[in-house]
Amino acid sequence: MKIKILFFLLLPFISFSQTKMKSYGGEFKFNPNNLPCITEASKAEIKIQLQANIAQLEKIGKLNSKQFNFVRPSFIWPVRKAASSDFNNVFAISNYVDHNSNYPNQLQDYNCGNRTYDTDNGYNHPGIDIYSWPFSWYQFQNDLSEVIAAAPGTIIYKNDGEFDMSCNFNSNEWNAIYVRHSDNSIAWYGHLKNGSLNAKNIGDTVNEGEYLGVIGSSGNSTGPHLHFEVYDSTSNLIDPYNGNCNSGTSWWRNQPDYYSPNINAALTHDEPPSFKDCPQIESTNIANKFLPNTNVYLAGYFKDQLSETTANFKLQYPDGRIDSWSKNFTNTYTGSYWYWGTTDLNNLGTYLFEITYQGQNVSTSFEIVTTLTASSDTLENFTIISNPFKEELKITSKNINPKDYRLDIYNQLGQRVFKQENFINRLDLQFLSKGVYFLKIKNKNKRVLQSFKIIKE
Ligand SMILES: [Zn+2]
Repeated sequence: MKIKILFFLLLPFISFSQTKMKSYGGEFKFNPNNLPCITEASKAEIKIQLQANIAQLEKIGKLNSKQFNFVRPSFIWPVRKAASSDFNNVFAISNYVDHNSNYPNQLQDYNCGNRTYDTDNGYNHPGIDIYSWPFSWYQFQNDLSEVIAAAPGTIIYKNDGEFDMSCNFNSNEWNAIYVRHSDNSIAWYGHLKNGSLNAKNIGDTVNEGEYLGVIGSSGNSTGPHLHFEVYDSTSNLIDPYNGNCNSGTSWWRNQPDYYSPNINAALTHDEPPSFKDCPQIESTNIANKFLPNTNVYLAGYFKDQLSETTANFKLQYPDGRIDSWSKNFTNTYTGSYWYWGTTDLNNLGTYLFEITYQGQNVSTSFEIVTTLTASSDTLENFTIISNPFKEELKITSKNINPKDYRLDIYNQLGQRVFKQENFINRLDLQFLSKGVYFLKIKNKNKRVLQSFKIIKE
């Protein structure tokens, strides 16, 4: 009885933070079954191909192995977020190079930790796995995480056209670009998205930071990630990191910390985020407008959350009032997400949701409104006016130069089924079978500007 009275007394003063202390979410584990990124057989074939290409490029004067720089490259980070990404950061690291040649489960990364893997049949992970996080398939679908050249060099081999939505071990080849640097060392960039590779040819040079492709899941892969593998000038596999278990100078210009905690995104959703079975595109359920007293989910997405640290959360109401709460992390995870749900918000206006973690601040705003305008396919420049469509897809555009844009249509497996170099208003799509597709309007650098779900009837 006493408890009931107390509860009643407190009720008017209870804030969001007190009523909604229960958090949901947890670890996102990439490649939980430790699938090898590449088979030894594929690797051997690639090495033969690289040697053959180097010899050929020397013959035609595009490479000169005798004229080399003694200074090793100084790498920048090989992944960046696309200009069209709204996230704060788009990746996390699942595995480093395994320095312990014994197996299975005999692991040692450069920092003497075991953030790497091997397999029963003698595979010791030879590269760094950088996976798209959060919503890796959504990022894949919308080209939101890009691979760039860690150092300038010459493209000595590239392979594109391979299926890019792998979830399991298979015999597929990966889409990849191989860049030789001026000291004759070579970097491998693997698992890229089909059709996303830099259009330059073998023998052409790339600059530091130049776009190479989009993170995909081609070859042996369980989801979108970059496998970055490096060989020195004498063809020995190296680990670019320096640490207690890998002496020598770091190949990174600014070597990132072993754990680099980061808030990858602060997002609001109208339904809980859901991570579906590979390779289904996740339902992000991201929303920024809500009706009063409907579901609002406030979520934080983290890279390298560390045990015994605390993330702080703050919700600022339209009237300036602030609710704050925190989450103590009891585990270290390479990728994690935590969210809180409420139906209590009914003050109309703009709210600010802010996360503070390890000195970083990331925020997002959302609104409580009286009416939700029906989501339309109208954004800044383009509108689909026949959707669903039968034979012809009609698109209107505002004041654009058709030569600045290209159109690509993908099926639900992420395979490109149509491309159009310059923008046109009517697409003849009679050849497509009935179903759901994704139309992407891109600029000439293949950046996705707008993405539409289209349905052929
Ligand atoms: Zn890998």
